[in-house]
Amino acid sequence: MDCLTDIFSHLCGQDRCFVVDGAALPVCQRCLGLYAGAAVTGAWLAMSGTWRRGLPSRSIVLVNVAMLLTAMAGGMHAIDLGPMWRLICGLWTGHVTMLWLVLGAAHLFHLSRAVVRPQPPWTRRDRLQAVALAAGLTMLAAAFGPLRWLGWDFWTAVVSLGAAMLLGALLAATVAVAVWFSHAALRGFPFSRTSAAPEKLTDRKRHQVSSQNAKRSRSVEPPTMSAH
Ligand SMILES: [Zn+2]
Repeated sequence: MDCLTDIFSHLCGQDRCFVVDGAALPVCQRCLGLYAGAAVTGAWLAMSGTWRRGLPSRSIVLVNVAMLLTAMAGGMHAIDLGPMWRLICGLWTGHVTMLWLVLGAAHLFHLSRAVVRPQPPWTRRDRLQAVALAAGLTMLAAAFGPLRWLGWDFWTAVVSLGAAMLLGALLAATVAVAVWFSHAALRGFPFSRTSAAPEKLTDRKRHQVSSQNAKRSRSVEPPTMSAH
């Protein structure tokens, strides 16, 4: 118990912690939401296979942006409506962060393949599941009070799992960015030095073709003139 509290003291200020089984959880209300939201979202992405899909549709992006902006307003104490609100803000942050780290990493790994085929798009079912998950996480915050009976060990295990999954997703995203950059450099995209080369060649080629055409027309001209 003390060991975990010590470990999480490096990641969290540990003020305003929920008390479960007579002991404070090792993270604050907001961080409990962050790690629980990341753990639930990571489990959903893995079990549903949604992590293999491409980037989400505009409607999901808009929902995510709205959730993140609201959570940021809560995080900066612009809006502070109490413990349940802090838990909701954490849950939304964890959900959106996990979703974009995993989908972003998977997308960049996909783009780094030798032959890039289109990723399977988000289906209507995926979109409904994502929205239902976001709503379910909000309800989880409301149900946390009655769910305290699950115990200190359970909630600390959820926090530890979420932190480990978030760290794994962050590492995967970092590796994906590095791999994508190295592949992009090899392919000459999107760097201008190599992408400008074909244009120069095209111009030179165009010049060669026009000069060849001019020569040809000059060589064709005499017979035409002599015909008249
Ligand atoms: Zn915290």
